Amino acid sequence: MADRYLSFAGTAPGRFLTRRLGLPQPTELVRWSAERPHFTGGLLHLTAGKPDLDAELAPVLARAGLRPGAGSPSAGSPVAVVLDATGVRDVEALGEVHAALHPVVRSVAASGRIVVLGAPLDPTDHHQSATQQALEGFTRSLGKEIGRGRTVNLVRLGGDARAAESTLRFLLSPRSAYVSGQVIEVGAGAFAVPDDWERPLAGHTALVTGAARGIGAAVAGTLARDGARVVVLDVPAAEADARAVAERLGGQALTLDITDADAGARIADALPDGLDVLVHNAGITRDRRLVNMSAERWGSVLDVNLGSVLRTTDALLERGAVNRGGRIVGTASIAGIAGNAGQTNYGASKAGVVGLVRGLAPRALAEHGVTVNAVAPGFIETRMTAAVPLFIREAGRRMNSLGQGGVPEDVAETVGWLAQPGSGAVNGQVVRVCGQSLLGA
Ligand code: NAD
Repeated sequence: MADRYLSFAGTAPGRFLTRRLGLPQPTELVRWSAERPHFTGGLLHLTAGKPDLDAELAPVLARAGLRPGAGSPSAGSPVAVVLDATGVRDVEALGEVHAALHPVVRSVAASGRIVVLGAPLDPTDHHQSATQQALEGFTRSLGKEIGRGRTVNLVRLGGDARAAESTLRFLLSPRSAYVSGQVIEVGAGAFAVPDDWERPLAGHTALVTGAARGIGAAVAGTLARDGARVVVLDVPAAEADARAVAERLGGQALTLDITDADAGARIADALPDGLDVLVHNAGITRDRRLVNMSAERWGSVLDVNLGSVLRTTDALLERGAVNRGGRIVGTASIAGIAGNAGQTNYGASKAGVVGLVRGLAPRALAEHGVTVNAVAPGFIETRMTAAVPLFIREAGRRMNSLGQGGVPEDVAETVGWLAQPGSGAVNGQVVRVCGQSLLGA
């Protein structure tokens, strides 16, 4: 979908005019491409407080795909800054966060990355809890003011820095262009180091529901690029599109309605070797204000977006059809976090997905060795959002820190990171892909 305002704001007269009128100034984001899979540029590794993971962290950062920074701010524009604040335990040490970032923030390149590393809150030390929580407000505020397509995220590290390697690689790469203002917990769970970080899903089977078009087709494409054999599931009415996507990706189409009572069993029957990645992406909207909403509209949205997700997940886990080390990724929405007028049904269903993740993640990992996470897209340029009236669409696009809508690939890259064998310590997380939407933040 052409975003003419974004193109105009990138020209010299556009920059002049938007600045003079105080209008949003979105920057064209740098996204993954085969020609530019990684950023090239300096990585600045800073610390605040007394970090205990320094020794493990440096080699992880050195492998993260950026040219490691000999970096002082005067050495040029760093493309990424990682601030290790895991050792910040009091307000005095918080001052070191300011001291570390204040002199460098201006020099971070456009579309650059700032990642703050924090520690889990220590329930026995309220000073540590207060200051670690402070990092959240700091990160979100910096994300809102930094501009020029730059993102700021907080990773709370519960264990080994190596468990966060897949997460750091993602956040420090062009893949995470539309992920900002997020707090991601990386626990101490088991993780596997892939043989090839460029194809971490080689030898894995991934099933994506609703993959005949839109975000689902992009997710299938990204997982295939990352090495997976993809199964493109969609309704029988979308069979031609599902087949075309599957053919393009060298995968397999599976047409069924996920609301069918036996959908889980049919998926399991179609995949005798089980699956490694299950992406619940299929979703529908049937908008009306509650006063005008029929039970049919309510029921169909709740059934596609939540009921079938619960049923198929249960059926596949019970049959052992999700292999150990497997990944389940749900699709929530900003509407499920912030709420949206006219979407009580949709908002309820998407909040339900968040609850499913929180409720199931610890148990699925303990009992099946499977992680459960979700993405929560914000305004993504798809057929769905193209149909939104112009002024509402414009507002939706601009009301985030990056001043623009995301693209399906932004959601797909986030799913790709969560789906990796290397992301085993990321469990129970709901990661917003919303350019740090001002709604529900
Ligand atoms: P879309 O309408 O373009 O695609 C959805 C796909 O799901 C379609 O191919 C459809 O046939 C399939 N589907 C619907 N019901 C199904 C069923 N019962 N069984 C099997 N397949 C079914 O939607 P999209 O914009 O690509 O959205 C994908 C997901 O992302 C949805 O869950 C949506 O709620 C969520 N999301 C989208 C946005 C956005 O801005 N586009 C924002 C937040 C969340």
